[in-house]
Amino acid sequence: MNPGNEAKVSSLRELCIGCKACRKACPSFANGGCDPFSVMQGLEGKVEMCIGCGKCTEVCPVTNPKDVMMQMKAEALGLPVPDAFVKCGHVLPYAPEPEGLPEVPEGDGCYVMPGCIVKGKVPYVEYAAFRALESIGIGSRELPGSTCCTYPIPLRSYTDADRDAFKFRMRGKAKGRDTVTLCSGCSDELARSGVFFPHISDYLAHFTDRIRQLPGVDMRVAIEPGCSAEKSYRSIREVVEATGATVMENTRGCCGKKIPGVNEALMREREEECRGADAIILCCPNCMLFYDGYPDGIPVLHISELVCLAAGDSSTQRFHKIGLKAIPGRRK
Ligand code: SF4
Ligand code: SF4
Repeated sequence: MNPGNEAKVSSLRELCIGCKACRKACPSFANGGCDPFSVMQGLEGKVEMCIGCGKCTEVCPVTNPKDVMMQMKAEALGLPVPDAFVKCGHVLPYAPEPEGLPEVPEGDGCYVMPGCIVKGKVPYVEYAAFRALESIGIGSRELPGSTCCTYPIPLRSYTDADRDAFKFRMRGKAKGRDTVTLCSGCSDELARSGVFFPHISDYLAHFTDRIRQLPGVDMRVAIEPGCSAEKSYRSIREVVEATGATVMENTRGCCGKKIPGVNEALMREREEECRGADAIILCCPNCMLFYDGYPDGIPVLHISELVCLAAGDSSTQRFHKIGLKAIPGRRK
């Protein structure tokens, strides 16, 4: 670990008062995974099973166990900076452009920062964002020079100052124009360094009057914001209700990412709590990878896709592993 990161870990650990609130809140620990309390004490704690959900830091009264967990996980896994990041600024190679999607005229209303998972795995979500914004009269285009937010574990060998430089560069490129992310994790990571690019759901929440003018949808949905967008639940719900969809009162939680054992247990809970929904509305493209493909799972829509559907555009459906059972009718 480089000396800057080592010093950060050690000062965060020194602040720990040993209350164990982090362990109690940790969804990974509850399912046989990591133990943030032990890691904060400098003990073994299956750090590689940390999901990075941040629940530990939310409840911690004095320090930042998530930061320590992320740094220690990077150290334990020893992953190199990915070639893709060096070549294109994102940690995943780009997926092929999705074919057959209608053209959306570019505009100057706001920029979209897609993030690594959208670029590498679900590129149709970026189309959905452009289309959703256009449907309410906001022209948009991709943020020039957009890169990774620097959250991913393989980038933790950089110091915080190195990672800040990538974020500040994007803020510079935005030149003060509104810029939205498609991943709540990106928004969180940028905000830690004072770069405020809201998630598209928080942005769309300012335009619910315009969303209400769209043809709308007649469907019953569950909302699973994902860990980093849980705080935006109210905005997400306002947007979803403005589309005409009926929102279920489901409990909500973490998908467990790729952590073996933890992912299966948490995804079972998520699918169970959303049973009866025509679709689950998500804000995190990483969550989408686990929901869209879950055996006998419920169809999912990124919140941008829901607004597209409300505007009468269902063209991203063909890219899903689990498609909607039927294209919803218009709002009643
Ligand atoms: S970030 Fe989440 S999974 Fe990791 S230690 Fe904290 S609560 Fe547990
Ligand atoms: S919640 Fe914070 S103070 Fe309490 S044990 Fe965990 S890291 Fe230490």
